[in-house]
Amino acid sequence: MVYKENRSRDGLASGFSLPNFSRAVWEVVVIGGGPAGMMAAGRAGERGRAVLLLEKNETLGRKLLITGGGRCNLTNNKPAVRTMLAQYRQSGQFLFSAFAQFAVREVLDFFAQRGLVLKEENDGRMFPKSNRAQSVWDVLVQFLKAGGVTVKTKSEVSKIEKNVALGQFSLTLKGGEKIAARACVVATGGTSHPETGSTGEGFEWLKRLGHTVVENNFALVPLALADPWVKRLGGVTLSDIKLTVFADGQKQSTHLGKLLFTHFGVSGPTILNLSQAIGELLTHSQVTIHLDLFPKLDTVALRDKLQTLLTVESNKKIKNVLGKLIPSALVEPMLDLAGIDGATPNHSVRRADRLKLVALLKAIPLRVKGLLGANKAIISAGGVALEEVNFKTMESRIVPRLYLIGDILNIARPSGGYSLQLCWTTGFVAGSNV
Ligand SMILES: Cc1cc2nc3c(=O)[nH]c(=O)nc-3n(C[C@H](O)[C@H](O)[C@H](O)COP(=O)(O)OP(=O)(O)OC[C@H]3O[C@@H](n4cnc5c(N)ncnc54)[C@H](O)[C@@H]3O)c2cc1C
Repeated sequence: MVYKENRSRDGLASGFSLPNFSRAVWEVVVIGGGPAGMMAAGRAGERGRAVLLLEKNETLGRKLLITGGGRCNLTNNKPAVRTMLAQYRQSGQFLFSAFAQFAVREVLDFFAQRGLVLKEENDGRMFPKSNRAQSVWDVLVQFLKAGGVTVKTKSEVSKIEKNVALGQFSLTLKGGEKIAARACVVATGGTSHPETGSTGEGFEWLKRLGHTVVENNFALVPLALADPWVKRLGGVTLSDIKLTVFADGQKQSTHLGKLLFTHFGVSGPTILNLSQAIGELLTHSQVTIHLDLFPKLDTVALRDKLQTLLTVESNKKIKNVLGKLIPSALVEPMLDLAGIDGATPNHSVRRADRLKLVALLKAIPLRVKGLLGANKAIISAGGVALEEVNFKTMESRIVPRLYLIGDILNIARPSGGYSLQLCWTTGFVAGSNV
């Protein structure tokens, strides 16, 4: 996909065509066509800059299209800047000057002025009324076209070098093509869902250019849960169970293994191995893990097993026999979750309650609150150290005329539209200053 630039701007990008495309010295090259890159490129184009946006995929914004389960939770309705910044915890102190220029109110206006109708859901989460991330994508692509941005997809940048003498960046594309730019915006994203194009190479270039990239220190850690009932289970181990991870209700992965309940949540090898992936999901989504205590039995077989147990001991109370099927520490919490009175005699347990119990034992929901690291429940996104970026402009403090935006920055944030808000804010500010 190439949107051609036909305007003359300082003679730099006038009437270029693909064969001599590499010889132009671009005023601005944005690397990475995700939400942050699209916002920055569109804004710089709107200001009359000659902008080239390079994206390695065939299309822009592949990750954007899967956000919010395909519905795109594009921000959170917290118009007061300080309230919004509090959500970013210790990173919030860095973000003030960027949010002072383009915060939630401006984002809502930006999309509304371009015809996107939004709606608010739980906890202030804002979605397009269409329930389609595609509608957000359409607005951004229109913004790029209106700004006269040249978009070149299937263009993977493999190297960025700074030519100090010429005051230019030299970019090398996979395949060898060279592109020169007076200013460069890096918007290559983080490392989650690499199939969308976010494979983290931006971090390698930035390290070579002298930046510090903070790693996620919480790679193998237990998880804190939001469900108070798990506290009663500290020390209980469940073996041979199936764990299924969901982000915003979308299934992510399943794993067979073992789980240990701790006082704060869950641990054990399977959880520890999943913790980094879950930490990344937590930066943008609500994460739930479903436990299947009987992965080898389907629902019908488990229903029969429960029915046999209740029939054989028909005069006993359900709370006194369920421990023959599941660990005894789980009996009370499971009956509570299923809404069944433990004193009910087995012969009187209603069919609907039996079905509810079976469904629960096949998918006990655990709501993940955070990673339990050295400082308890810290989520770290990893990325470029914030001290190295001037948030008034998003320009690097290490390399002049290099701008860093979006997921490439080390900003911890909860789920609820806060990640995309960061993309809009940092992208807009970079585009306004580059
Ligand atoms: C499943 C899922 C659901 C999410 N849901 C939400 C949500 O509802 N709300 C929310 O706020 N956030 C959500 N997020 C987070 C949000 O998607 C990210 O914060 C956001 O996409 C980051 O945008 P970005 O532009 O910084 O990077 P990305 O979206 O990762 O885009 C980076 C782009 O750079 C390109 N690129 C990378 N390297 C190169 C290269 N060498 N050359 C050229 N191009 C390159 C990539 O192909 C990619 O298109 C979700 C994330 C996931 C994975």
